[in-house]
Amino acid sequence: MRQKKLFFVLALLCSVQGMMAQTSGFTKLDQCVEIWKEGQQTFFGYPANQQSEMHDFYEWYLGAGMEVVNLNNAGDPMTDKPEKMSSQSFEREVIEYFAPLYGFSLDNVWGLVTHSGTDGNNHGIYFGANYLRNKTGLQPILYVSDEAHYSNMRLAHLQNLDIRLVKSDAMGRMIPEELEKSLDTSRPVLIVYAMGSTFKGAIDDMKALNAVIDSHSEIPAVYRHVDAALFGGYLPFTEHSQMVSHETMRFESIAVSGHKFFGIDSPCGLFLCTRDVYDNQNDFNVTYLNGNMRMINCSRDAVQPLKFWWLIKKVGTEEWTRQATRLLDCTAYLKQQLDAIGWPAWVNDYSNTVFFKRPSDDIIATYSLARGYDEHFGGPLAHVVVLQHVTKEKIDVFVKALKSEAAAQ
Ligand SMILES: *Cc1c(COP(=O)(O)O)cnc(C)c1O
Repeated sequence: MRQKKLFFVLALLCSVQGMMAQTSGFTKLDQCVEIWKEGQQTFFGYPANQQSEMHDFYEWYLGAGMEVVNLNNAGDPMTDKPEKMSSQSFEREVIEYFAPLYGFSLDNVWGLVTHSGTDGNNHGIYFGANYLRNKTGLQPILYVSDEAHYSNMRLAHLQNLDIRLVKSDAMGRMIPEELEKSLDTSRPVLIVYAMGSTFKGAIDDMKALNAVIDSHSEIPAVYRHVDAALFGGYLPFTEHSQMVSHETMRFESIAVSGHKFFGIDSPCGLFLCTRDVYDNQNDFNVTYLNGNMRMINCSRDAVQPLKFWWLIKKVGTEEWTRQATRLLDCTAYLKQQLDAIGWPAWVNDYSNTVFFKRPSDDIIATYSLARGYDEHFGGPLAHVVVLQHVTKEKIDVFVKALKSEAAAQ
C-alpha cells in the first residue's frame, strides 16, 4: 500500500516536472527561453506559425534513441532505390502527398524537401536556367517583379543571370503591360511569379502574365517558377486551391516553406517540378551516390522530411483545411477591426498579410512588426502576417493598443 502511494507521488512529481519548463543550468539560455516564450505570445510581424505541433515527434525521436543516429538524405529522393541510412523514402512520400495539392500528377512530378523557401527558389531558378539552355542553346533572361522576395534577385545574381525587374502596381502585383514592355522575345523567358510579395502579400496574376507571354510565339522557350513560400502553405487547403495548381496555372516548378504555415520549428520547404524539367538538367554522374546529382546540395537534412511526414499523418488535410479557413477569417477580422477604429489598413485578395499605417516603435517592438514604406499609402507602414497563433482574442488586444495610441495623439 505504502509502496503504491510512493509510486503515485513520484508519478505525479514526474508529470508536474514534465509540464514545467526544464532549465538548462545556463543562465543566459534560461533567460532567453523566458524572453522567447513571452515574445511568442505577440509575434505578429513575420510568417512563422508559432503553434508548433512537433511535441509528439520529439518525444518519439528521443524515446526511440534517434538522436544518436546520423542520417543524411544526400541523393535523389525520387528514385526507387533510397539510401539505407536516409529518410528518402519518407521524403518521397511527402512529395507525393503534396504533388496533387499543387496540381501535379504522380507520373509527372519530381521534387524534394528543401532547406528553406530560398533553397526552393534556388532550385527553381537553377533548374529553369538549365532547362531553357538545354532546350534552346540560348541564355535566358529572368523576369521578376520589383516587389518579389529579395531571394530571387539574390539568386539571379548568384547564378549570373540577366535579370529584368518588372514594375508592380501599388498593391504589389507585377503589371502585365510592364512585362510586355520589358520582354526580349529573342531569348528564353525565365519568369518567377511572386505568390505573396514580401511586404504587401500580393499575388502576381499568372493568367494575365501567361497571356502576355503566350502572345509571343517567337519566344524560344519559357519556364515559370512560382515563389509560394508563404501562400503555398495554406492556399491548397482553401477554395482558391487552383491558384497554386500546376495544371491550371501552367508553371514548371513551385517552392513552399515548411516553417511558415506548416509550423515546422526550423527552416525547411518543398520544391516540386515536372519530369520534363528534371529530365532536362545537366548530368553530373556521382558514382558514390548511385546516380545523377541534379539537386544543388550534397548533404541534405533527413530529420525535416520526417517532421513533414509526421505532420501529414498527425495533422493532415482536414485539420489544415480548418486552419486555413480560420486564418483567412482572422485576416478579414483584423482588417475589419482596423477599419472600425479608422486605422488605415489594406489587404490583398487571398492574402493573410494586412499592412497598415505604421504605429509607434513601442507597438512595433512588442509585436515584432516588420516595417515598410510606400508613398502610395502615406509613407511609413507595418504589417501583420496572420498565422495559426494570431487569434481573434489577440487581435482584439492589438487593435485596442492601436486605438489608445490614436486617442493619445
Ligand atoms: C518567406 C519567403 C521567402 C523566403 O523563404 P525562406 O523559407 O525564409 O527562405 C521567399 N519568398 C516568399 C514569397 C516568402 O514569403
